[in-house]
Amino acid sequence: MLQLDLHPTGRHFLQIPGPSPVPDRILRAMSLPTIDHRGPEFGALGLKVLAGIRQIFQTRHPVVIYPASGTGAWEAALANVMSPGDAVLMYETGHFATLWQKMALRLGLAPEFLSLPGVDETGLPRSWRHGVQADLIEARLRQDTDRKIRAVCVVHNETSTGVTSDIAAVRRAIDAAGHPALLMVDSISGLASADYRHDEWGVDVTISGSQKGLMLPPGISFNAVSPKAMERSKTAKLPKAFWAWDEIVEMNQGGYWPYTPNTNLLYGLSESLDMLLGEGLPQVFARHQRWGAGVRAAVKAWGLPTQCADPAVHSPVLTGVITPEGVDADALRRLIHERFDLSLGTGLGKLKGRMFRMGHLGDSNDLTLVAMVAGVEMGLKLTGVKLAGSGVHAAMEYFASHAAPAALKKAA
Ligand SMILES: *Cc1c(COP(=O)(O)O)cnc(C)c1O
Repeated sequence: MLQLDLHPTGRHFLQIPGPSPVPDRILRAMSLPTIDHRGPEFGALGLKVLAGIRQIFQTRHPVVIYPASGTGAWEAALANVMSPGDAVLMYETGHFATLWQKMALRLGLAPEFLSLPGVDETGLPRSWRHGVQADLIEARLRQDTDRKIRAVCVVHNETSTGVTSDIAAVRRAIDAAGHPALLMVDSISGLASADYRHDEWGVDVTISGSQKGLMLPPGISFNAVSPKAMERSKTAKLPKAFWAWDEIVEMNQGGYWPYTPNTNLLYGLSESLDMLLGEGLPQVFARHQRWGAGVRAAVKAWGLPTQCADPAVHSPVLTGVITPEGVDADALRRLIHERFDLSLGTGLGKLKGRMFRMGHLGDSNDLTLVAMVAGVEMGLKLTGVKLAGSGVHAAMEYFASHAAPAALKKAA
């Protein structure tokens, strides 16, 4: 038998910003037998998860669930509402925004990629250190006097950088320009960790995935669809069959799908919804904000810059850390993985080798994050990086002096 050393003693520290650790409760729920996807039990499960997931997106409208990774749901979103050659306004916040733009090109659309020009003092692109600039979007839409642009596409939580964007501001920019473009948002890594409101923010299509804030394994993904987007899908001409919303939404009325859905992942989703809605979304968001602040306190104590250069839009999901000139962030990650069984996120695209990412999302807690900070601190020291101070102490200090929302609730 092939010997793979995949399971050293103790728990692996899976601190990448997705897949995030899957709670035991969810793993157990997924171990139930696979059932008849046309039978009555399945219909009840389908109805439950379809209703629950709408609460997570904060929408009254349909959420379509696909047995696919987030990338599939990106394609589904574009395929349903676009026609060949359509102009789309996309915004470069980082690697995931770039991948989505490349997909739009491959699908035969005409994406225009807005960004903040230039590099800053770190030598890294400014656009990859800041959120979406809604005023740039508004100015571009105002110039589009014959209304050629069919959609504005932005990433809510840019997982490659640890920067969030103000989606409500993008909606206001579209409205201020009086432009009819759809607003399409990738919240694959933001959903169920960072505050997100599909209806209130006037989003037409929100794309998400299972393996980040929802704490599930990879394998299912979502499109939340506004009535305006649903209307657009009836006349849009890109080919769509498997991804087509209409047949799925129709069958979903009874809790079923037009094909064999991902039964065991839906058991997991049902459990995840119980956990998240049981805790309450405001508590979930507060928990992530606090974790982000604690981890950033550590990075600040080390004296290293965060990838996010705008304190107003730090991600509550992950923190990107820029390594000093000459320190290969991937070599550092490899060392930390080998020595301490801790996985960190790599620098993607334009950030390769220049930074690493620390995930603080989903099924975690204070001590897990202090351990992550300790692993990184040991790695930095072993690599010879001069640190201004102890991140471990700073994180402990932060968590000890800022009680968790759940602890406050119990004490009240
Ligand atoms: C993870 C992620 C994706 C890609 O999702 P896959 O499930 O890997 O296909 C896209 N966008 C963002 C913002 C992500 O975090």
